[in-house]
Parts: sequence; structure tokens; C-alpha cells
Amino acid sequence: MSGWLARPSGVLRVGEDFDLGALDARSTPGFGGDRAAGEAAMATLGARLAVLQEMLFAEARSGSDRALVLVLQGMDTSGKGGISRHVLGMVDPQGVQVRSFGPPTAEERRHHYLWRVRRSLPRPGHIGVFDRSHYEDVLVARVEGLVDGAPWTRRYAEINRFERQTKESGITVVKCALMISPDEQLARLANRLRRPDRFWKYDPSDLDARAKWDDYMDAYQDVFDHTSTPSIPWHVVPADRKWYARLAVTQLLVDTLEDMNLGWPPATFDVAAERARLGALLPAQQGDDAPPETRGKSAKTSKKAKAKKKR
Ligand code: AMP
Ligand code: MG
Repeated sequence: MSGWLARPSGVLRVGEDFDLGALDARSTPGFGGDRAAGEAAMATLGARLAVLQEMLFAEARSGSDRALVLVLQGMDTSGKGGISRHVLGMVDPQGVQVRSFGPPTAEERRHHYLWRVRRSLPRPGHIGVFDRSHYEDVLVARVEGLVDGAPWTRRYAEINRFERQTKESGITVVKCALMISPDEQLARLANRLRRPDRFWKYDPSDLDARAKWDDYMDAYQDVFDHTSTPSIPWHVVPADRKWYARLAVTQLLVDTLEDMNLGWPPATFDVAAERARLGALLPAQQGDDAPPETRGKSAKTSKKAKAKKKR
């Protein structure tokens, strides 16, 4: 038997004594099974994610403010883009808003660092994906010394407040950090340099960031210590095995959406009356050509009607 032995929301959640240094990036917490089992599980899960996303979208059509934002962080090559493509690629693109955060533009630099993030939040009914996020402003900004002073403690508090407000406005925040090992990153960067169809993904500055690996890990540890709260926790996803990282994030999204108790919005019209109007337009004795739903319903009705007549 293979499958989840524990919910990823529990096993990957950053609790109080979390130690990033002790993480095994090749591990597959909570999942019993190999890559083939993971990929098989993914197919079923993808179908469920698609239905839940449609429910979220439908709910917004009838006035709900709810949305979800998936915040993805991780070093270069950790697979953030792959999550957008492979996980969110399983749902209707109409309902997904992907936003990648690079170095701030001239305009963005004129504003507070949360400005561009706030205006990128998903609209009601949508799943937003942040490929990098406001956390770059306490990660790269800190490691590269991009801001004067050391406003980190203040920024953690600001970020916590911002995320709390986001949640209060109806947007569920799911935070995932994809953590790879330095060896795996080396292999992935080498792959990018081997393949002309991957050159576009390679950025010479990736090697500069890699040279500061330990500084980045220290910055990540501080992020987890200060911004993983009981209501909006971080999930640290071991990401050396892509199949596991994708599966874990998908399961996390599905579980989160299930917990939102979504449902199909009730009709805003008189269903029986509309069915009758439509029925009047259908050619008589349409029989098997009728749509399956109509067919089932009319068969039942006619059986009932017959039973009534007999009585
Ligand atoms: P990529 O995700 O490979 O497209 O790279 C985006 C680059 O933008 C990374 O090197 C990030 O560190 C950088 N970046 C993102 N946000 C910021 C920020 N707020 N300040 C400086 N650099 C950033
Ligand atoms: Mg890159």
C-alpha cells in the first residue's frame, strides 16, 4: 500500500523548534511510496484540485470574496516554476493568477516593498501563485545587503501583519519553501548549461547566490523562526525529488481547499421552471438524444407519474 501516511500540512509545517540544518532534502515526509506511486497519486489529486478550484471560482460568481494565494520560495532551480506548470497546470487557467517577483522595477522601488505584493493578490475566486514574494525582501535583500540598516525584525512584523490582513480579507495564504541540497542544485545548474533549450533559465548570477548558500540558509531559518505563525505557518518541502515536492504541494492545496468547505452555489433561478421552459423547446420524442441529466430525470419522473396513475 502506498500513499500519504500523514497530512503534509502536519508533517511539513514549521513548528517552534524547526531546524533547517537538520532537513534531508531527499526525504519524502509523510508519503509511503516511490516515484511511480507519487505520480499515480498525482493524477487523482489533480482531478480533485480542478473541481475544488472550479467551486472556488463558482462561489465568487455568487458574491464570495474568498481566494487562495500560494507563496513559493526557494533557491534557484528549487522547482518553483515547475509547481506553477505542473500543479496549477492541472486546473482551469482562467482561475489561476501566477506572479513572479524579480528585482523591483524603478517604479516598484519608489514604493514600500509590500506595494507590489498587495496589488498582485488574487482576485476573488482565484488561486494566486507567487513565484518568489515579499520574502525576497528579507532574504536576497539581507544577504546582498540591499537595504540600509538591518530592518529585518521590523519587516518580519510587517509581513506577519500583512499576511494576517490578507487572510482577514478572505484570501487564504499557503506558504511553501522548496528546499534543495547544494548537490542537487549543482546537478540542475549543470543540466541547464548542457541543454540549449535550458540556457534561457540559466542566470550567471545564480552561481553568485550559490556561493552565499550558508548566508541564505541562515536568512531562511530566521524567516521560519519569525514568520511561521500558528494561523499562517510555513511548510518546508524537501525538494530534491521533484515528484515529491509537486505531490506535497498539490496535497496541501487540496487539503486547504477542502477545509474551506466549498460547495456549488445554489441556482439563482427557478430550476423547475427553467427545465420546463427548456423542455418545451426540445423536439418531441427526443429519447436518447436528450442530455444524460435530462434523460435520467425525465425517466424517473415518468416512472413516478406512471406509479401515481396506477394508484
Ligand atoms: P528568477 O526567479 O530566477 O526569475 O530570479 C528572480 C531574481 O530576482 C532572483 O535572483 C531574486 O533574488 C531577485 N529578486 C526577487 N525579488 C527581489 C527583491 N525584492 N530585491 C532584489 N532582488 C529580488
Ligand atoms: Mg533563476
